[in-house]
Amino acid sequence: MSELNGDRAAWLRCYRCWSQSLEIQIHYDAIRRVDPDSGVLTEGVDEVQESVVQCLDCMHDQPHLTFQDDRVVPIEDRWQRMVAGTPWVASCTVRVDQDRVETCSGPEAIEFLTYGAFGDAGVREFFTHVRFHKHDDEQIVVHLLVELYDRSAKEATEVLEAAAHGQLEITSLAEESRPPAHASDEAH
Ligand SMILES: [Zn+2]
Repeated sequence: MSELNGDRAAWLRCYRCWSQSLEIQIHYDAIRRVDPDSGVLTEGVDEVQESVVQCLDCMHDQPHLTFQDDRVVPIEDRWQRMVAGTPWVASCTVRVDQDRVETCSGPEAIEFLTYGAFGDAGVREFFTHVRFHKHDDEQIVVHLLVELYDRSAKEATEVLEAAAHGQLEITSLAEESRPPAHASDEAH
């Protein structure tokens, strides 16, 4: 694909269906002091901004894109893997100290187990499915299925290894076919 040469069209698209029809949700929370004389809001005491770019055609989040200043920019390394890559499905276990998992039961257990195994990277870049977990002394072994986009099995393995917060064991890694590109892309 000529679009993958590094210009904006290469990365400013859905990593999954390559649609360029994107939108961004920005959540902005701020706490401000109120000036007692004028009622004017003073500088931020606490400000948090979070954003998620989504594809309007396939509705998936776009973890290779982020919001900076006034525009959407790519996350280096990640966008190349995700846009040019194919989906890989890994069956794996991650052995972590139990202190890393806030709770392993109840409605939030999956979220905490995923975060414990792969941290922020896993929560953002991968589709993870926690199958089950086992306790082993002070450690928890999390069994997961992970779908991630990469350009080779070697790259997928490296990305999983870098993200894992404990000893990683990959029991199988298989390449899937890429979902069809969205129709609007074919019109180019
Ligand atoms: Zn899409």
